[in-house]
Amino acid sequence: MTTTSLNQLLREYQLPEQLGFARELAPVMYRVDYYDGKWHTGQLQPYDEISISPAANALQFGQQSFEGMKAYQVTQSSPALFRPEMNFRRLNRSAKRICIPEIPAQLFAEALIQVVDACKNFIPNNSGQSLYLRPTLLGTGPTFALKNVENFSFFLMASPSDAYYADPIKVMIERKQCRAAVGGTGADKVGGNYAAGLQSTQKCIDAGFDQPLWLDPDLRQNIEELSGMNVMAVIDGKLHTPSLNGSILPGVTRNSIIQLASVLNIEVVERDMPVDELLNDIRNGNCSEFFACGTAAIVCPISAVGDVDGTELPLPAIDKMAARIKAALLDIQEGRVADPLGWMHDASEEELLFKRLTQKHS
Ligand SMILES: *Cc1c(COP(=O)(O)O)cnc(C)c1O
Repeated sequence: MTTTSLNQLLREYQLPEQLGFARELAPVMYRVDYYDGKWHTGQLQPYDEISISPAANALQFGQQSFEGMKAYQVTQSSPALFRPEMNFRRLNRSAKRICIPEIPAQLFAEALIQVVDACKNFIPNNSGQSLYLRPTLLGTGPTFALKNVENFSFFLMASPSDAYYADPIKVMIERKQCRAAVGGTGADKVGGNYAAGLQSTQKCIDAGFDQPLWLDPDLRQNIEELSGMNVMAVIDGKLHTPSLNGSILPGVTRNSIIQLASVLNIEVVERDMPVDELLNDIRNGNCSEFFACGTAAIVCPISAVGDVDGTELPLPAIDKMAARIKAALLDIQEGRVADPLGWMHDASEEELLFKRLTQKHS
């Protein structure tokens, strides 16, 4: 497609009245393909369906990984990305785990900058709204043989989005199934992890809950996370969260909240969190609050924890510390306060983004 017609497409695009979260897709996407042993030249193109072999590894064997990130405008003169290097590194860790060649920083930077720039006139800018970005890697090799796969595609799609209205959710402890094993892909953001959780999610919904609360894959004793969000509990005024153990996905939001907590004078405890201890803490009032966190919702309060025996424990407080943390994070993301930890990146700066993605880190 020519630049002129792409520009025309962008000019003619209008935001629908009802946006929702990650439902409306921007009219453009970025695509780059890997074949003959290397990633080729990427390009911005109209958002459209893609053609893929029904035998493709992504479809047959789940060779797929993805990221979720956001560009925020609101008070800022140009859209800003939040900690994009975290998503870049995690995408490449996931890719490596499922034998997809890593995406070069140059291409990832180019994709982000081009897509955000193309969408800049329709990034909604009320507080909470954003351009949700979905980098995706697929194994497209059309063969049932599990070796010698050498075709891959990277896509960056975008979705102008409303705030994710996080009504408090009710979670139900999943004591039988698990979403991921240590040594498996739990710490990687791959589609298969979600598929593994669908049946349990349906069971929760049928029982009047929203989502399963996953326990550790070995003994089903310690709480881990939800299917797409990490969890945190306020116990005796401190913020407790399960430590990363190899089966928990290391969320960017989780990491950011841990760092932000010290700015807010909240003490954080990362540890193994036995589920029965948590239930006792809720019963006796030591645990006042329980919430989930992730890029989409930022924080999502939990109003009750259910168990297989039919008990349901309500949380004494809902959205107190969670709301405080969310507000502090949004203030940074939307440019209302100084950015003490250097988290935001002006999305018009491609060269600097490339540097940022390739910088050594501890
Ligand atoms: C994406 C995801 C999260 C949250 O990660 P963020 O980087 O904070 O968005 C948590 N758990 C799982 C299983 C996830 O896939």
